[in-house]
Amino acid sequence: MPERHDGLGPAAPDARPAPRVEFELIERIRRRIAPRADVELGIGDDAALLHCAPGQVLAVATDTLNAGVHFPPGTAPADLGWKALAVNLSDLAAMGAEPSWCTLSLCLPEADPAWLEAFLDGLLALAREHRVALVGGDTTRGPLSVSVTALGAVPAGQALRRDGAKDGDEVWITGRTGEAAGALRQWRDGGARDAALRLRLDRPTPRVGAGLALRGLATACIDVSDGLLADLGHVLRASGVGARLALAQLPVSPALCAAFPDADLRHALQLGGGDDYELCFTAPPARHGPVEQALARCGLEATCIGRIEPGTGLQVWDAAGRPWAGPAPGWDHFAAGAV
Ligand code: ADP
Ligand code: MG
Repeated sequence: MPERHDGLGPAAPDARPAPRVEFELIERIRRRIAPRADVELGIGDDAALLHCAPGQVLAVATDTLNAGVHFPPGTAPADLGWKALAVNLSDLAAMGAEPSWCTLSLCLPEADPAWLEAFLDGLLALAREHRVALVGGDTTRGPLSVSVTALGAVPAGQALRRDGAKDGDEVWITGRTGEAAGALRQWRDGGARDAALRLRLDRPTPRVGAGLALRGLATACIDVSDGLLADLGHVLRASGVGARLALAQLPVSPALCAAFPDADLRHALQLGGGDDYELCFTAPPARHGPVEQALARCGLEATCIGRIEPGTGLQVWDAAGRPWAGPAPGWDHFAAGAV
């Protein structure tokens, strides 16, 4: 596509882009790419050419991070690079897909090679961990925005979808929720800031191994990006069922407890905070043991936090058997970022 005024150089009077700056940045990216056998052609042509294994379907996920909306201003470029890929690998994990390739669409306010190299340090560190090859993208000028598309493979018929939860299934969550939201809350409040919580916000760990281990075990799965209740709500609607959760069973991190001694606020962070990138999934009670064992083999804890029920709606019960109302009257369980 011809580009107008969005190349990284100053717009030429005839409205054609100044390509040299853009190509220099792309060359910096290309130089750092690790090869992968199934990439016939990566960065440098009009499209990448990729080999797909027979019997597998492609899983494709795209997520964009915009400055000031999806990350605090001043976020380190390496953290941004990591997170831009992590949120997409998390989506593939939630489908039970094995990540293979990604593309990167970068919109930059200026051509700053040092910024780009630091950004690539973060993105490519995570890419290496999962043997993901960066195979193409786009580079333009404008307000800082990073969009990654991740592509992965899953055997036909084995993907973990949102619409398979059944009455009687157990509801599970991997790891612990609320820590990233706790860091965001501390950053907004401007008071004490906990480094362990901040790491969970800046460097989320996509649960790729867990997603693969849950193939054939989970009936439905979603990654928690907008808050546990909001994202479980998507599963319930897609599956046409309801659920009840036990507050007392929610896994809680010591760091979160120390930073947020007020139980109501802490529960709100755990249930409504977002940016967790844990997997919330459902499975029949008969698979309770196998689920625990499969996740233990990936070195990840998973906790059963409730049950799928007939009907619709999502109820949360406290330890005394009362319905949990949220940190304040009228608290909206489903409003992302309600805390
Ligand atoms: P075209 O104008 O044909 O779309 P571009 O000049 O935009 O080509 O890109 C040239 C090559 O560089 C393509 O292979 C494209 O995929 C790749 N590319 C551009 N920007 C990026 C980026 N930010 N990350 C990875 N690859 C990129
Ligand atoms: Mg292009």
